[in-house]
Amino acid sequence: GHHVSSQRMRSRRRELRTRHDITSFAPQFISIYESLTPSEEEKEKQKQLLQSLEKLIIKEWPNAQLHLYGSCANSFGASSCDIDVCLAISDGEIDKSKILLRLAEILQSDNLQDVQALTRARVPIVKLKDPATGISCDICINNILAVVNTKLLRNYSQIDHRLRQLVIIVKHWAKSRGVNDTYQGTLSSYAYVLMCIHFLQLRRPAILPCLQEMQPTYMVTVDGIECAFFDQVQKLEHFGSVNRESIAELLWAFFSYWAYHHDYANNVISVRTGGIISKQSKDWTRRIGNDRHLICIEDPFELSHDLGRVVDKFTIKILREEFERAAEIMQYDPNPSVRLFEPY
Ligand code: ATP
Ligand code: MG
Repeated sequence: GHHVSSQRMRSRRRELRTRHDITSFAPQFISIYESLTPSEEEKEKQKQLLQSLEKLIIKEWPNAQLHLYGSCANSFGASSCDIDVCLAISDGEIDKSKILLRLAEILQSDNLQDVQALTRARVPIVKLKDPATGISCDICINNILAVVNTKLLRNYSQIDHRLRQLVIIVKHWAKSRGVNDTYQGTLSSYAYVLMCIHFLQLRRPAILPCLQEMQPTYMVTVDGIECAFFDQVQKLEHFGSVNRESIAELLWAFFSYWAYHHDYANNVISVRTGGIISKQSKDWTRRIGNDRHLICIEDPFELSHDLGRVVDKFTIKILREEFERAAEIMQYDPNPSVRLFEPY
């Protein structure tokens, strides 16, 4: 009777989902992805704001340039995200604080709202809000490396559309579950993007190549760091097509990789090499200062920089439990596209 059938239900519930089962959830994830991506109208507003900022800035610093970076430029932005702008001023010796304070003055007198110069932050910025569009914006100075890593990320997203889907869904999951906050010891959006690129480089057949291992077609030296990679990505638009995995399968495999398969004790993920390298080879085997290296994500250009260094012994536990929860939901939950994003 009742007892037997509920037992059977339970055992059915614990049965492993197959590739086929999981793929039936793909349309639901695609529609979540679509609801998160910004509209053309929003992109247009961002462009207009950038142009009006450019006009103001050129008056004061005729040789300056404005670059967009971060999620509004790397294609991984969700709708209504803030825009990140970099003011590039190439006059040898500059006093960033002075420029930021002057910039704040100029913006304020142009009626932009909530103008604030944060000169003592790790990355000093001016914050502002455009009353016409409601868009918030952070402006930093000469952070050219961020502009270059934004280009690398965008170039990857142009190779296979599944990267953009995966990142936007993973970021939405991380924000919903409270694990996208470096101030609280969890990971930045930038770190999650690198995790997704790395993951797609490791699929077999691979969905993404390793652009930094290919013959470079783009080369710049920034702050003494040589940044070189293949950027003619239109030539790679069929690269991943042999692999037919759906977004649902990829999400399932992504979470189970970080829940059950990644070797946290010994390995570093490296988009630069397209693979996994050892902590030993980076000398990231012990805590130095505040860098604990409990989850290791190599920056593609600043090789001494571990994006996981903000994670401590408490937050590593939270992160791994969240990866396990997500993997379990993808494996067993009758309605994974709902439970995955439940607020924590
Ligand atoms: P969100 O949509 O959450 O704002 P985002 O893509 O703008 O995501 P952030 O983590 O806010 O991501 O970072 C903005 C940009 O700053 C990144 O795209 C990257 O270029 C740069 N960046 C952020 N953190 C680092 C870091 N630790 N090292 C180097 N560059 C970084
Ligand atoms: Mg941002």
